[in-house]
Amino acid sequence: MGNVQSTENLKSYKMFVGGAWVDTSETSAVVNPATGEKIAEVPIATIEELNLAVKAAKDAFDHGEWRDFQPVERGRLLYKVANLIRQNQKEIAEIEMLDTGKPFNIAMFEVEIGARYYEFYAGVADKIMGETIPIKDGILDFTKREPLGVTAHIIPWNGPFQMTSRSVAPALATGNTVVIKPAQETPLSTLKLAEILDEAGVPKGVVNVVTGSGRVVGNALATHPDIRHITFTGSVETGKTIMKAAAENITPVTLELGGKSPQVVFADADLEEAAKVVASAITLNTGQVCSAGSRLLVERSVHKEFVEKVKTHMETLKIGSSEDNADIGPLITKNQLETVEAYVQYAKDNGAKIHCGGKRPNIDSNGFYYEPTLVDEIAPDSKLAQEEIFGPVLVVLPFDTKEEALEIANGTEFGLSAGIWTSNINTAHWLADRIRSGQVYINSYSVGTGVEIPFGGSKKSGIGREKGLEALKYYTEVKNVAIKYM
Ligand code: NAP
Ligand code: MG
Repeated sequence: MGNVQSTENLKSYKMFVGGAWVDTSETSAVVNPATGEKIAEVPIATIEELNLAVKAAKDAFDHGEWRDFQPVERGRLLYKVANLIRQNQKEIAEIEMLDTGKPFNIAMFEVEIGARYYEFYAGVADKIMGETIPIKDGILDFTKREPLGVTAHIIPWNGPFQMTSRSVAPALATGNTVVIKPAQETPLSTLKLAEILDEAGVPKGVVNVVTGSGRVVGNALATHPDIRHITFTGSVETGKTIMKAAAENITPVTLELGGKSPQVVFADADLEEAAKVVASAITLNTGQVCSAGSRLLVERSVHKEFVEKVKTHMETLKIGSSEDNADIGPLITKNQLETVEAYVQYAKDNGAKIHCGGKRPNIDSNGFYYEPTLVDEIAPDSKLAQEEIFGPVLVVLPFDTKEEALEIANGTEFGLSAGIWTSNINTAHWLADRIRSGQVYINSYSVGTGVEIPFGGSKKSGIGREKGLEALKYYTEVKNVAIKYM
């Protein structure tokens, strides 16, 4: 492979600019969070190198063969990408597992989600249509949806392969070109993706991957005048920085900034099923999921009983590396582990009750592990119940009435996802109508791969929608054409 050199346990990667694999003078280390060991080195791009990537993407958009790709051909290309991903699923999942620490079976599932994005958007590449607008006799007026140009994709570390695919697939289906900046912690599967896109026949310059820090490379990308759209997933603080940077060039943004999503459990729900899903929605990927169900709102009459059930599920999860066949892996970095610990310590210091977890597990490893933790007896306005912890920490907030449940559910600055658990259809719809949230699940939480359904947040959870047909709006702009013929 041209892009990676291997010595015994350490791989040296190049980055992908203008269809070529390029070296840089400086590199940064990639660590396996399950062992704490350095596994690879990746380039740290300079701003000049980032500028070359944007130039390559702009040239590919303005002049290259990509312009001549008909919609159906873009679709066929994306089908090919989906197939190649599936053919290489194990290899990509292994890379993702080593880079993020997530268990192999979860990594396999996320790679399949990645493939699904290319497959889904392959099918719509030739079905993006405009409208004819009646004005008066002698005027033909119609709209077209056109690609924007060079799109920037700034990716977090929690689900790198599937999140990169989530925005790159619709951007390509609609005819844009792409510059990706993966998170410094987890760039490896994105570099592998570049290899696959190249192999599938994506023309040179259409997709570029530039590695380096958000502060330098990410910022240079977000402020670049030739970027016509920015898709960012990550923290609210960085989202604000990016939005301000984008304002300079009036660049549109799609921001997906996480949440503090409520699971609202009524006494009349199927409590067994609800407990299983509630426990898994905060422990999947060790809680490092933007839509993690991180607040459990439970009707007071079943508070004790339900908490016991959730606790049982949490305690049976096996923590460890993929080699241990574990259910949940480590947090991404030592820093993230310490952040989670600090939140739980704060809860303890403020008189909270810890039903389970609240500490590092007793396992023989230098990995960044933390036990699934259930925190009770805290106020809905305490920082544990308000801030995104991004770890396997679930806070319990009892309620007496549906009105009170609604007030607590809407009582954060976020609004990404919500779960409602009840057998009363009236209660379910009453709450679904009133919760401020991009998506609501009733008697479920996350369904299938989620590729087909729009996803995004209200309030500080973000702007815009990804996934589904809805995402296509954000990678195209409408041009109106009026013709007078009489
Ligand atoms: P982050 O700072 O928001 O990072 C996300 C991405 O943005 C990374 O690629 C990062 O690069 C890049 N970035 C950082 N500063 C930038 C800037 N000024 N301009 C352009 N790009 C920039 O997130 P984090 O520091 O990794 O994690 C912090 C917290 O964010 C987490 O604890 C969690 O609460 C939240 N988070 C949410 C999600 C989500 O899915 N909504 C995902 C990840 C994190 P580098 O990291 O390479 O420097
Ligand atoms: Mg960061």
